[in-house]
Amino acid sequence: MPTEIPSVRQVQGYCSLCIARCGTVATITDGRFTRLDPDPTHPTGAAICAKGRAAPELVYHKDRLKRPLRRTRPKGDPDPGWEEISWEAALDLTAAAMWRIAEQHGPEAVAFSQSSPSTTAIADSAAFVVRLMNAFGTPNMVSALDLCGWGRGFATRYVFGVGSVATGSAGGAMADIAETGCLILWGYNPSFSRITHATATVAGLKRGMKLIVIDPRHVGLANKADVWLRVRPGTDGALALGLANIMIERGWYDQEFVRAWSNGPLLVRSDTGRLLKAEDLASGGGSGRLVAWDLQANRTVNYDPAGGHYEEPAEHLALRGEYTVATKDGAIRCRPVSIAMRRCARNIRPK
Ligand code: SF4
Repeated sequence: MPTEIPSVRQVQGYCSLCIARCGTVATITDGRFTRLDPDPTHPTGAAICAKGRAAPELVYHKDRLKRPLRRTRPKGDPDPGWEEISWEAALDLTAAAMWRIAEQHGPEAVAFSQSSPSTTAIADSAAFVVRLMNAFGTPNMVSALDLCGWGRGFATRYVFGVGSVATGSAGGAMADIAETGCLILWGYNPSFSRITHATATVAGLKRGMKLIVIDPRHVGLANKADVWLRVRPGTDGALALGLANIMIERGWYDQEFVRAWSNGPLLVRSDTGRLLKAEDLASGGGSGRLVAWDLQANRTVNYDPAGGHYEEPAEHLALRGEYTVATKDGAIRCRPVSIAMRRCARNIRPK
C-alpha cells in the first residue's frame, strides 16, 4: 500500500514571545504547526531559545484561551464561574465599564494594565495600548517589568533623559553591542533571557570586544568573559559605588556631559549635607534656585531646576574641590555633588 507523503511547508517569520523577536522558520506539517527553528538568513535569527522552540506546544495547549471569558460569580468566590462570550460582547462590556468610570470620575480614573513587553507577546501590541490610553484620555498604566527592563527603560531616563515612548515602559535605550569595545553584563544573562543579545555578544567577542560579567553565578556568557566579577547577592550597589569612586578619582568620565546633564556641579553644604540653595546665600538669590561654582569667575552661579539650565554658561563649573561660600549662616565649605558622591562611594562597605 502506498504511504501518503505528508505535506510539509516552511514559513519564514519571527517569534513574538518576547521583545527579542528572533527570526524563525515555522514548519507546517499537514496543516499543523509542528516546529519552530531559527532562520539564519534573518538579522536576529542566529538562534532561538527553549520558549521559542516550545511555540507549537503553546499554540495547541489544551488550556490555551482562545475566546474571552466572563466571570459570573463575585470576586472571592472559589469558583469564578467562567463563561465564554464573543469578542463583540467582551469589547462592549469593557467599553461600557470604561465610559461609566470616565463619566463618573474622569478618564484618568482608568488605569490600563499590561504584561511585561520584554518577556511576553504583548511587545507587538504595547504601542497600540498606549495609543488607546492617549485617545481615551488617561496617562495611567500598570505594567509588570523585568529587572533588566527597569534598568534599561528607567535608569536610562535618569542618565540620558530618554526611555521608550512606544511601550510606555521600557526598552527605548538599547545597548549597541555591535559597535561596543567593552560590554558589561550586570545581572543579565541574555543566553536565557534575550537570545539576540547573546548572539550579538558572541559576535562581538569574535571581533575582539572585551566582556565583563557581573553575576554571582558562573553561567551563560560568564564562561566567555574576560572578567567575571562574582558579587555576593545584594552587594551590587557597593560594587557600583566602588567603580564610581575610581572613575571620579581618575577623571574617567565625560566632564562636559556631567556638567550639562547631571547634578554633578551643584554644591553640597558641609554643615547639613544638603544642596546649597540660592536663597541661602548672603547675597540672596532666586527662590528654588540651586548653586554651582564657576572656576574661572571664582564665584557661585545659580541653576534653575524648573528651566533646567544655569544662569551662565556651564563650561567652567567645578566638579572637584572645596569652596567657601558666604551664606546667611556665615562662611560654609561646600563641595560639588560629584565629589560628595565620591566620598560616599569611598566609604561604602558591603555587609
Ligand atoms: S528569545 Fe526566545 S522567546 Fe524571545 S523571541 Fe527569541 S525565541 Fe522567541
